[in-house]
Amino acid sequence: MKTLLKNGTVVTGEDVRVLDVLIEGEKIAVIGENLSDPDARTEDVSGKLLLPGFIDAHTHFDLPVAGTVTADDFETGSRAALLGGTTTVIDFATQYHGESLNKALENWHAKAKGKASCDYSFHMSISDWNDSVFEEIQDMIDLGVTSFKLYMTYDGMMVGDKEIYQILKRLKEVGGIAGVHCENSGVIKALVEEQKKLGNNSTACHSMTRPCQVEAEAMNRLLRIAELADSPIIIVHLTSKAGYEEALEARSRGQKVYLETCPQYLLLDQSLYELPLPECLKYVIAPPLRKAEDRECLWSALAEDKIQTLSTDHCSFSMEQKLMGEKDFTKIPGGMPGVEDRGILLYTYGVRENRITLSQMCRLLAENPAKLYGIFPRKGRIAAGADADIVVLDPEAEGVISAKTQAYNMDYAPYEGYKTKGQIETVYLRGRKVVENHRIVAAHEGIYLKRGKYSL
Ligand SMILES: [Zn+2]
Repeated sequence: MKTLLKNGTVVTGEDVRVLDVLIEGEKIAVIGENLSDPDARTEDVSGKLLLPGFIDAHTHFDLPVAGTVTADDFETGSRAALLGGTTTVIDFATQYHGESLNKALENWHAKAKGKASCDYSFHMSISDWNDSVFEEIQDMIDLGVTSFKLYMTYDGMMVGDKEIYQILKRLKEVGGIAGVHCENSGVIKALVEEQKKLGNNSTACHSMTRPCQVEAEAMNRLLRIAELADSPIIIVHLTSKAGYEEALEARSRGQKVYLETCPQYLLLDQSLYELPLPECLKYVIAPPLRKAEDRECLWSALAEDKIQTLSTDHCSFSMEQKLMGEKDFTKIPGGMPGVEDRGILLYTYGVRENRITLSQMCRLLAENPAKLYGIFPRKGRIAAGADADIVVLDPEAEGVISAKTQAYNMDYAPYEGYKTKGQIETVYLRGRKVVENHRIVAAHEGIYLKRGKYSL
């Protein structure tokens, strides 16, 4: 089966050009001017932007958290992803205490298999570091899991400084890389105790007990540990100017530091925690939303190519689940959705507001995550030989984000009422049209992607 997309505006990490794209089977066969093929179904996409399928390297589908399970599983989460132009998600398989990494990976394969409508892969979250896990790191690499997640906070999940150092040394041996959630666990606990002693239980305490110093201190410590281990490092969901400055300092020492941020840290701020109940609960995420100056710092960093990837940390909870913490801010399940909105939000508020270019958008959403997570050049670029994952975006159409029209298994939208410029019209996944006129037309086509070593 062949498809010829005529006269589309093809966006890559380097340039933007009007070209034809010939898809053959699952792959992009040729890109050029004035292509023709009598056997191909031809589609005129003039005036439309063609972008490589987006990659969301930070989702949590079907994740047990705080006595409940995220609202979106691989069924609804991957459908939402596709509708938003995301053709690949990298979710977090999670090792629980006493469990092997192989068992954790098996668990996550079972959650995704047969349910995923987009392609998927897994990072491995390590919570229980010991000699046999040391050995299993090689198994993970062999099975295509080349990136690992470490938490510096959350009882039951967090690893200490000793373990972080040992894990980074081990990953260096096998060519793996770690992404780290940076927050100082002990200080958060002390700040929570302070608020509780004062009788404060309101949602606003959430951000008061996780200030930016808590992120920056953990980043500083992590970056120094990575320096000692002589290992590159990924900071996931960077939120603050203070944290960003720590990363710049480590880079100035010659360290390789990759930064990820998320749309919520660019578009929302901590004043939302002052909203009345239950509205404020929707925005409880960790690390929390910050101030306007932090947002501006992150936008500038994107414009200067100092942040490599924009992911979502999609971790959704219904209002009923969020209400578990109505009377106690420490019991609010932390997380918000995003996998459906990321691309169009970045296009609207980044590209159309001239904060970043189209090629930068392409790098942040597709090319850089493909390289960093070892699936380039198969994914992340519209190029001959790559998987034909293509997003057709109509730059003239407009939309409004609303809980009524989103595909999430959710009863609210954090970006409710946000106007968007441009709409994702059609999405191809490995040559097959999976979204047409904003509707899923082929479900459950997702496959597991084995990944190689990072190369960014
Ligand atoms: Zn996360």
